[in-house]
Amino acid sequence: MHRRDLARVDRLVVKVGTGTLTDEQGRFDRLNCERLAAELAAVRRSREVVLVTSAAIAFGAAKVGLARTAGKPWDIATKQALAAAGQPELMAAWGRAFAAHGVQVAQVLLTAEDLASRKRFLNARRTFARLLELGVLPVVNENDTVAVEEIKVGDNDSLAGLVATCVGAGLVAMLTDVEGLYDRNPAEPGARLLDEVPRITAEVERMAGGAGSERSTGGMITKIRAARKLMAQGAATALLSGRRPQALAALLTGEPVGTLFPPDEERLKGRKGWLASAAKGKGTILVDAGARRALTEQGRSLLPSGVKGVQGHFGVGDPVDIAVEARRPFARGLAGYGADDVRRIAGLKTSEIERALGYKDLDEVVHRNDMVLLDGE
Ligand code: GLU
Repeated sequence: MHRRDLARVDRLVVKVGTGTLTDEQGRFDRLNCERLAAELAAVRRSREVVLVTSAAIAFGAAKVGLARTAGKPWDIATKQALAAAGQPELMAAWGRAFAAHGVQVAQVLLTAEDLASRKRFLNARRTFARLLELGVLPVVNENDTVAVEEIKVGDNDSLAGLVATCVGAGLVAMLTDVEGLYDRNPAEPGARLLDEVPRITAEVERMAGGAGSERSTGGMITKIRAARKLMAQGAATALLSGRRPQALAALLTGEPVGTLFPPDEERLKGRKGWLASAAKGKGTILVDAGARRALTEQGRSLLPSGVKGVQGHFGVGDPVDIAVEARRPFARGLAGYGADDVRRIAGLKTSEIERALGYKDLDEVVHRNDMVLLDGE
């Protein structure tokens, strides 16, 4: 993909970070919010836009009058409370800024679980589609109230990636407080802004370093990880300054602003994109080394004969991880049989399924078409 191809992206997700909406003291930067709304309103004239916005916590802290002790993060309950207090203020700020351009906004609050369940994922997709048809701008944040540590997306970079999968966006533009990805800490002399990152290597991850400033949740590394998933799904990611006027407009005309992560040429489509990025397995199917090879090297389906065991509970059609005992999952797919039935047919030949279960719906435990190989496979 060339930068000029970005001119043809007709649906995009724009992610605005806390550092772009607030100043050093965590106060709302109304002027920057209004400028961004004006620019996004202009982009919307020729394309569909979904906005993912952070800063509920910052707005909540300002509202409640809670100051942060330097270097000491808030605990999760405080963050959740502040997000709940700040979310209406955040929406009101965007609502006012967009109303000046005749754009109506809608609030969409999501959690990781919403996007991991195929049913809820499809519901969300339908809502997004209808909002876009109605000409209303969806403004998304994580539903922090119910998103405790273990189940939350955690950072809005990842959330923006999941939303892009959900709406089928061709581009995620992440507006942040730096110009893009640098080859080293941008504070160091001689740091160079990367124009394009065609592959996310260990070297690139190293450049991304640790978490960003005190105010931001994810820093560079969560952006890189989100970009990696998007690339694998055939979507582009761009990192650019949320403070440089017209940066987004310039990006969309192919000008060299920020850092572009172009999509992989071999892209995953539709359901597979959802599987790789959003779904967490409800359980794990343990397989032997032979089955692993058949899946990863020969592109085969998972048959009962290769199954060694089952962990967790899942029903037919639920996402499941596939792993060799005690190792990280190497694939994820939709279960052809529920967990109890997979236990019963583990190790059997396909011809023995019917006798073991009293019925046979499928030959495969997980069909190839419902399966993706995970990172690094
Ligand atoms: N959901 C959090 C908030 O609105 C932000 C998470 C993030 O910045 O990545 O404050």
